Amino acid sequence: MEMKNNSYELKRRLADLFFPNRCPFCSRIIGAMDYICEGCAASFKADNRCEEFCGGRLFWVCEYNDKNRRIVYGAKNSRDGSKLGFMAYTLCACLAKYKAARDFDVIVPVPMYRGDKLKRGFSQSEKIAREMSMIIGVPTENAVVKLRRTKQQKQLSKTQRRDNLKNTFEVLSGMDIKGKRLLIIDDVTTTGATLAEMYEAVSKYGCKSADFAVFSKTAQKA
Ligand SMILES: [Zn+2]
Repeated sequence: MEMKNNSYELKRRLADLFFPNRCPFCSRIIGAMDYICEGCAASFKADNRCEEFCGGRLFWVCEYNDKNRRIVYGAKNSRDGSKLGFMAYTLCACLAKYKAARDFDVIVPVPMYRGDKLKRGFSQSEKIAREMSMIIGVPTENAVVKLRRTKQQKQLSKTQRRDNLKNTFEVLSGMDIKGKRLLIIDDVTTTGATLAEMYEAVSKYGCKSADFAVFSKTAQKA
């Protein structure tokens, strides 16, 4: 894939001098501009799907299996740059497959609750979004905030998930998303409850369109 931004390459090459770039799956050292080693690339299966969702499109890279779960967990819990970078790159490749990389004015990460972000020190969806920005040249804006802490979605049914998230997200005042084409980013989705709530929040503000992209999609529970 063609890189939009020379400063992105420079950033990766500089980072590589201090922390050699590693394969997100097996931790082997790889080239500064690589995202995966050859061996793991042969076994990584990107589904690169695009389906209808909330009046827009939902792009997703791969199913949430044991192998891909390690990428998502590593990115979230240890701020593993090679895993975050891998997710950003594969998401951009998925958009490229559908010739969609130029369809957006702004990338909006699904936000964490402020207290949770302070505790973790970073938001993985924001990191992924910002790296995607450098690859496809579309700016990232933290246009949406999460107003309160919510229960872990994992244990909840589909209806409980929607209730749990009701009115959790709000567009920040001063954020001008009117007439813009948004790409909403998250690492994982299961029932789409979080993304649907994000849609609720942004659609009130007259964005032109909202599409969604996640790295991994889990099989749906009833
Ligand atoms: Zn590898």
